[in-house]
Amino acid sequence: LYGLILMLLLSCAEHQHEVESVNIEARVDSVFQLMTLQEKIGQLIQFSGNEELTGPDSKTPNELELINKIKAGNVGAMLNVVGVANVREIQRMAVEESRLGIPLLFGYDVIHGFKTMFPIPLGETASWEPELAKATAAMAAYEAAASGINWTFAPMVDISRDARWGRVMEGAGEDPFLSGAFSAARVRGFQGEDLADPLTVAACAKHFAGYGYAEGGRDYNTTEINTSTLHNVVLPPFKACVDAGVATVMNAFNLVDGIPATAHAGLQREVLKKQWGFEGFVVSDWNSIGEMVAHGVAENKKHAALLAMTAGSDMDMEGDCYAPHMLELVQEGKINVAEVEDAVRRILRVKFRLGLFDDPYLYCVEEREGNPAMQQQAEALALKAAQKSIVLLKNEKQLLPLKPGQKVGLIGQLADDKDTPLGSWSAHAVEQSAVSLYEGLQQGDHQLSVRYARGPQVFDQNTSFFKPVIFNQDNPVGMEAAIEVARQSDVVVLAMGESRFQSGEARSQMDIGFKGLQLELFEAVRRVNPNVVVVLMNGRPLDLSAIADKAAAILECWHLGSKSGTAIASVLTGEFNPGGKLPISFPRSVGQVPIYYARTNTGRPTGNESVLFSQYIDGRNDALYPFGHGLSYTSFQLDALELSQSEINAQEQIKISVNVTNTGAVAGTEVVQLYIQDVVASSARPVKELKGFKKVWLEAGAAQQVTFEIDAQALAFYTPEGLWKSEPGVFRLWVGNSAVGGLEGQFKLI
Ligand code: BGC
Repeated sequence: LYGLILMLLLSCAEHQHEVESVNIEARVDSVFQLMTLQEKIGQLIQFSGNEELTGPDSKTPNELELINKIKAGNVGAMLNVVGVANVREIQRMAVEESRLGIPLLFGYDVIHGFKTMFPIPLGETASWEPELAKATAAMAAYEAAASGINWTFAPMVDISRDARWGRVMEGAGEDPFLSGAFSAARVRGFQGEDLADPLTVAACAKHFAGYGYAEGGRDYNTTEINTSTLHNVVLPPFKACVDAGVATVMNAFNLVDGIPATAHAGLQREVLKKQWGFEGFVVSDWNSIGEMVAHGVAENKKHAALLAMTAGSDMDMEGDCYAPHMLELVQEGKINVAEVEDAVRRILRVKFRLGLFDDPYLYCVEEREGNPAMQQQAEALALKAAQKSIVLLKNEKQLLPLKPGQKVGLIGQLADDKDTPLGSWSAHAVEQSAVSLYEGLQQGDHQLSVRYARGPQVFDQNTSFFKPVIFNQDNPVGMEAAIEVARQSDVVVLAMGESRFQSGEARSQMDIGFKGLQLELFEAVRRVNPNVVVVLMNGRPLDLSAIADKAAAILECWHLGSKSGTAIASVLTGEFNPGGKLPISFPRSVGQVPIYYARTNTGRPTGNESVLFSQYIDGRNDALYPFGHGLSYTSFQLDALELSQSEINAQEQIKISVNVTNTGAVAGTEVVQLYIQDVVASSARPVKELKGFKKVWLEAGAAQQVTFEIDAQALAFYTPEGLWKSEPGVFRLWVGNSAVGGLEGQFKLI
């Protein structure tokens, strides 16, 4: 009976969805019929602007021109317009002064928070808790929507396996399964149950596709992605977003197979729109249409517009290609008007779904802007998210947590830095600042005596997104004082890492070690006090080889957002037991990059018994800290691996269960991870692939059974014939707490 009721409910929900879609299509039609071709093309255009358009100052010719375009119905969306007053005024120009009064979309890069900053996405993924990412995305949407924004350019779902690429901070790491889970959760968080809810915003999965595979980790660079990697690794997180109902997708700057992603019909029209049934629209990346001239595939902007529209790029962001040329291209018969119309319908559909045709000022509620009603919840969530994102990489001699009564020497510029923890993409939070680690350690009653010394300056704090970070190369001022503090302390807590402007867009690095005298400081401090706890603040995996053996403990704290210092202090003191796990491998040397756990085997063994093996002659193959790694202040034991059966057919499910026991003295969380290997397949499959994970919280001494369910669908991959399917044969599996080791088993798919 229950099943029957559920089926009825589901079919009702489906029916309702159908009714809504029919309704929206009818409404799209009704507007569409009134539009001239010029007005239709206007919907495809997006420009950037802000106060300069609405403020009292006299306008430049460019600003006047943009205002005129808006009033003439030649603009469909804006970006970077923030603040209810600005949005309201620009929306008014469109709605009240253009002939048809079609409302505009207002987009902004709300990447990991708007006013309240949450951990950078890579860091937050270390929580292995998609529900947490959903909650922070929902809060970010709430704050952004209160400022008039109705569309975020997030989540970034690019898989990256190259820590040199600065934008690795913005994604969910190296693994398609983990990224899929987080990306979908972020979409659900931003968009909520109903796009027309003015407390939510439309999301945008980006950058479609392959942007994270920039060669050499150099941003915007070309990519080298084979078909198997494209379909099995790069595309699945996008598919997860489409399945979660993402309203928009952004294309990418890079080439895929020699074709700019922006002009890639195979990706945009065939895979995204046709095979996956994506009904929203594709926005170009910033001038990615115009950049196709420099790529050498378009003669000029008009040609670029032709290529992009033909390939299914619906909206031109700041490209100035569609606006001046689209009409002509249609009139000359070079572009089929049906393609333009399809793009327009897609954009109108999103506007209808957002409720903008019912009330164009839905997101312009003055009383909500600056209303502190949700402030406490936002801050509590920022703290929780920051705590859950911290990964304990190493804890020798159980130096952590710090013990009451200890003298703690807190050292490093980053320990007293209120800007860096905000991370890249936090432009709107600049007037606020984060809780520094130094401040965090002054809060609460932890009975530690903390003395702070900066040590030599690492980088010039007076920096910005548009200024390169300037590092101190040789000025030792501060070194002696830091050594003195270290000498007089029981434990040294040394903050090391990167400035917020060292990672993010256009922040590629060929050296991912420590800059600005940080290693000199580490060595000097360690010489007088071996009890060094390193607190890392960074946007990417760093090369930790110079400190990994020598530091007594290492705590990975990323750029954790507004509540950074409070969160780190709570972990250092043991008030919060860390449970984060790496979403990306940490290399032993930049020379190993790209490095990832889901590699394929070569024909050669690894190891160093023979020079003819697949190895380096000057170092190991494996990661320093593998994907999935992270310690706790307690210990966990996994045992009693059980499989419900030894074989399954295509219709069956296998249950894989283990027992997890907290064998230590305090409560804590463990992330139990299931990896599978398809031993023999028509194309070589990875040595291990994540197929499931479960986060469990256990009191000291407590135990719990964890069960995973796997069916043939979960074993499918994109085969050389171009089909998603599973192939019969033997599958090995591991259940463990990182990508290395674990309890082993196997089963057969028949
Ligand atoms: C970035 C996008 C971003 C856009 C708008 C581009 O440079 O690649 O990710 O959404 O700018 O700010």
